[in-house]
Amino acid sequence: MLVSPPTLLEERFEAQRQAFALEPCPSEKIRVDRLNRLLAMIETQGAEFARRIDADFGGRSSNETRLAELFIVRSGIRHARAHLRAWMRPQRVSTSLHFRPAYNRLVRQPLGVVGVVSPWNYPLQLSLGPALAALAAGNRVLLKPSELTPNFTALLDQVVRASFSPDELSVVNGDVDVGKAFVGLPFDHLFFTGSTQVGRHVAQAAAANLAPVTLELGGKSPAILDASCPIRTAAKSIAFGKLMNAGQTCIAPDYLLVPKGRANDVAHELETAIKRLYPALIANPDYTSIISVRHRERLAEMVQEARDSGARIVTVNPSGEVFDEHTRKFPPTLVIGAAPNTRLMREEIFGPLLPIVEYDGLDHAIAMVNQRDRPLALYWFGLDAARRDRVLTETVSGGVTVNDCLWHLAQEAQPFGGVGPSGTGAYHGEWGFRTFSKEKPVFYQARLNGTALFHPPYGKTFELMLGLLKRIT
Ligand code: NAD
Repeated sequence: MLVSPPTLLEERFEAQRQAFALEPCPSEKIRVDRLNRLLAMIETQGAEFARRIDADFGGRSSNETRLAELFIVRSGIRHARAHLRAWMRPQRVSTSLHFRPAYNRLVRQPLGVVGVVSPWNYPLQLSLGPALAALAAGNRVLLKPSELTPNFTALLDQVVRASFSPDELSVVNGDVDVGKAFVGLPFDHLFFTGSTQVGRHVAQAAAANLAPVTLELGGKSPAILDASCPIRTAAKSIAFGKLMNAGQTCIAPDYLLVPKGRANDVAHELETAIKRLYPALIANPDYTSIISVRHRERLAEMVQEARDSGARIVTVNPSGEVFDEHTRKFPPTLVIGAAPNTRLMREEIFGPLLPIVEYDGLDHAIAMVNQRDRPLALYWFGLDAARRDRVLTETVSGGVTVNDCLWHLAQEAQPFGGVGPSGTGAYHGEWGFRTFSKEKPVFYQARLNGTALFHPPYGKTFELMLGLLKRIT
């Protein structure tokens, strides 16, 4: 029988499996050393990473790269390093009285080889964020970044090779076909960040191997302005949250729900806030480009369709620049009154477009959120605690920031992840450590114990003991 030679991908996977078998539970020292090497890599190469990502985007604010990629990964590494000993320690778990003096422990064990597939929009954060958690948990890691950020990936591959042996951490370069082969490998855990559509294929591929999977997906995240909300303050946060990375952020507010009759006021305040953040656009290094011409054209089509459907379009272009085919930048655009069947109102936008939709009372706002897929994020702005709590209890989303945008993602002590179509599972901080560990319950029986009283042949003793148990439990 002819056996085809293993591909490079399979070879790397197999090398990591063998290395893991030889070291199934790396010590704290080994894990800290891996985290230190990861930290040194981003500290020494941070500026070059920012330049590479800038090249891939054709204009990505280096300050956004510093804040949303380098800083987030750096604080993730430092947090994991500081808490690693406590996380690795077997966790005490209570033991019912009738089982004592036996005791329980929850042992956190590395899983093995972890696969990480990441998207282009925050290429460093979304590849190294999961990787740091998987390494902290004692695993080996194979990374498959997006083909849309080739400059970034080439540098990542180069610096990972210089700092890690390929059986510890390794980068696999490639397009969708490589992605398909990658997610077909029998990983001990597969961690995918990307679109909901591709997430479905990934879940199916993982299911064939019964590989546990975390899916960090997308969707339409609403921002709700309550009637009690100071609009001017909210507009500043929404403009920031929407326009960071030119809206190419999984948790960017995707559409805005505002009380009936307020859409024009809100649009006016947003316009003012945006002009203050970005007095110019094309030559402004703070304002990021759209990742590709194809993605930019998609945004233009969405705006055109909304315009054709009768929506009012507010293009915020403070210095009146000309957006032609020579720029990949797209001006911030507010859309008032887009029809529900337009792409703008059906698909995740992933760009600097913000539809503003009026609601008629809180029930209506909540119903509008709940008639869609459960979103990755939800934002609520206002001062009325009772209405805030109604929104929190009557909607289900991956995470929430109240009276601001995006910042729940930066909380290392909170899990980050979606729900249903916006994702499965979570990471960040201890949540990431647990995602990449088998939490194994271990029951330590005492030398002197009464469990033999429950053994067959079943008779009077068994009846007596079961009756006793029923009374005390
Ligand atoms: P994408 O789903 O197109 O691609 C993501 C990755 O999957 C890439 O590495 C790609 O090469 C690979 N891939 C593509 N098709 C594949 C297949 N059939 N099998 C296996 N791998 C495949 O996503 P994108 O366009 O790179 O990123 C944008 C999307 O990611 C948005 O929907 C956004 O909301 C989502 N996202 C989610 C989060 C989160 O944390 N939840 C973060 C960032 C982005």
